[in-house]
Amino acid sequence: MSRSTATLIWLFANKFLPLHFQNKTAMLFDKVIFGPIRSRRLGISLGVNLLPPTAKVCNFNCIYCECGWNTSGSKPALNSREEVATALRAKLTEMKVAGECPDVITFAGNGEPTIHPEFEAIIDDTLALRDELCPSAKVSVLSNATMLHREGVCRALRRVDNNILKLDSGIDATARLMNGPQQPDYSVAKVAERIAAFDGEAIVQTMFLRGEVDGAEVDNTTPEEVEAWLALVEQIRPRQVMIYTIDRATPAPNLHKVTREELEVIAARIEAMGIPCSVSA
Ligand code: SF4
Repeated sequence: MSRSTATLIWLFANKFLPLHFQNKTAMLFDKVIFGPIRSRRLGISLGVNLLPPTAKVCNFNCIYCECGWNTSGSKPALNSREEVATALRAKLTEMKVAGECPDVITFAGNGEPTIHPEFEAIIDDTLALRDELCPSAKVSVLSNATMLHREGVCRALRRVDNNILKLDSGIDATARLMNGPQQPDYSVAKVAERIAAFDGEAIVQTMFLRGEVDGAEVDNTTPEEVEAWLALVEQIRPRQVMIYTIDRATPAPNLHKVTREELEVIAARIEAMGIPCSVSA
């Protein structure tokens, strides 16, 4: 994947096109299909949101999530397989007729796409629509890697062009602080083992930041943190690593960006392993 494509995916991951502001820090996509983003440099990218248009649904609660904090109470229904296929067919047809097929179709949106019970079937539908209408488009999925115990999710992720999986720390306590996983037995070792099972076809995505959360310091750029994370990346041997930092307001108020220079130093260590690494800062 080119650096520009990696950057484009990062833009989707960071809600480049906010359509509905929930509060001053959170933003939600209010449609099943969002975009496209058109850029002379990056090409054309179309987003797919499997989650409800009015609520975030995720089994993480990341301190930097641009959808905001998770909320309690009942949630609206997820977008159905049929809704997704219908909306995607309509949009791809419109773009094909206009002579502007997307360069990439990206599953991101208001939460974690792989929790959708029909995720595998939706990916199959998407690949079929892509092949029929815009065969040059790549299909990308941004996931927090928590559903890799489901065989159907792994099968689907093996079929997409860019399987992009979150791994923010090599230390459990830091991952818990940064990501707020709902799974009591969450462990970065187990997640790394499952990502490694993609045999070098996965892409690892990592947010670097520092600051304070509920009185606790968080900083995944310390030497101890970077060493632990590098060890997992070495174990996984992904096709690529994408590292980035905060770009806009976060639900946790006291978080800070790290500098591009710091990210470049980390990226150089990944590149030294023979793994391409893109930086967005
Ligand atoms: S994985 Fe984290 S950043 Fe992504 S939607 Fe869930 S809480 Fe937000």
